[in-house]
Amino acid sequence: MNISINKAHFPVSVLGPGKRLGIWLQGCSIGCKGCVSQDTWEHDPGRDMTVVQLLDWCHKTTQGIFDGVTISGGEPFDQPQALDALLDGLIRWRRRSKLDFDLLCYSGYPLSTLQKNHPTLLAKLDALIPEPYVDAKPLTHVWRGSSNQPLVPLSDRGRNKYTQHLDTPADQATKRIQTMLDGERVWYVGIPARGDMAALENSCKTRGLELTQVSWKS
Ligand code: SF4
Repeated sequence: MNISINKAHFPVSVLGPGKRLGIWLQGCSIGCKGCVSQDTWEHDPGRDMTVVQLLDWCHKTTQGIFDGVTISGGEPFDQPQALDALLDGLIRWRRRSKLDFDLLCYSGYPLSTLQKNHPTLLAKLDALIPEPYVDAKPLTHVWRGSSNQPLVPLSDRGRNKYTQHLDTPADQATKRIQTMLDGERVWYVGIPARGDMAALENSCKTRGLELTQVSWKS
């Protein structure tokens, strides 16, 4: 089974509790206005790998020492079969190795749509952050981009880990953005506040650094 991936990173500490594996799927058919990840929208067969290769990378990279997996995008539910195979592989690994990591997934689809169309996938997750990003609504809660996006625990493990964070304000997070370098690319992972990316562009410009390709503008 192939899965189309935009990027994967470890450790991620700004999208869910603890030290996490972050996996961003490629392709999103939703197109929220103001999305900061527009580089993940296009369906791109050049970004395919097998689920087995991805799981292998997860095993090697974490050595089993991590707290959770965050799956984002792009839109993970636009690749339902690949997402299903990935979740099955992660759950098998968790059971076989007696680990206790949680599985958190983001989606731009409404919760009711996911409950209707993908109940089997939801049953494999511990927590979900659904609903489209709405640029006009403020960033209020930790790990969420706009105030319409709930945090929904879906399992006992999810309830144990996430219930305490349902109403945690965004400004209580010690940090919201991580920066990573990959050759000449710079990645920002996390949930920026309104105006953060424009401020970053201006700040780079005043230091003589022009950003020519950015993911938050088409
Ligand atoms: S915020 Fe998420 S769901 Fe919305 S367009 Fe961007 S990647 Fe797609």
